[in-house]
Amino acid sequence: MIVENNGVVLVLSGPSGAGKSSLINKIADDIGEYYFSISTTTRAMREGEEDGVHYHFVTKEEFEKEIENDNFLEYALVHGNYYGTSLLPVKQALSEGKLVVFDIDVQGNTAVKNRLGDITTSVFISPPTLSELERRLRARSTDDEDVIQNRMKMARREIQRIAEYDFLVINDDLDVAAEVLKQIAITARLKIPNDRINSFVQSWEDM
Ligand code: ADP
Ligand code: 5GP
Repeated sequence: MIVENNGVVLVLSGPSGAGKSSLINKIADDIGEYYFSISTTTRAMREGEEDGVHYHFVTKEEFEKEIENDNFLEYALVHGNYYGTSLLPVKQALSEGKLVVFDIDVQGNTAVKNRLGDITTSVFISPPTLSELERRLRARSTDDEDVIQNRMKMARREIQRIAEYDFLVINDDLDVAAEVLKQIAITARLKIPNDRINSFVQSWEDM
């Protein structure tokens, strides 16, 4: 039996500053065609960010309207701001058989697992130590001191939930971590949805 390509999900989580963006950029050319889900957020735009590229930046009122209209696959309050994944483009990409990559927090991972668990591979990306995370957040120099302190506090909390993920990638050496993530992304494409498995079992028995 030939199993057609089906859409699958790769969830990347990890503290802000763990290196999720750096890693996905590094492996982008090596993992085949994929769709990176652009989240919607109410947080302020950082220097170097572009609306519609890094996030869809909206007001709190606009975000709450989208919640009301049931437009999100999942959403969460992170660091006091709303972040959410719009359902429509994800559905579209999945129906085209793409690998859909999410950069979402631990709450988002739980929600995606509940809704799309059979086609989802989840990866927690961690810096090697908390002090290295602090160093990287300062080096990135995009956040104020109180934001950095808040991100560190959140990181301590998020790290307690690594066991909820399929894989842990420790981003110490960027090249090594990128190679591991590349292998995971390639393997994520091999996930088969439950309905396909059921029809395979059915036809296997009937033949
Ligand atoms: P995230 O997307 O998880 O918030 P970034 O990719 O923006 O994290 O990385 C945070 C900062 O750390 C950036 O300045 C990035 O260049 C740096 N960085 C990422 N990975 C490494 C690494 N392995 N070694 C050193 N610096 C890194
Ligand atoms: P940042 O402000 O650094 O871009 O992101 C802060 C946190 O929000 C990160 O942990 C990131 O993974 C998470 N995040 C970004 N988009 C979404 C989303 O659509 N849903 C959820 N649940 N979390 C998100």
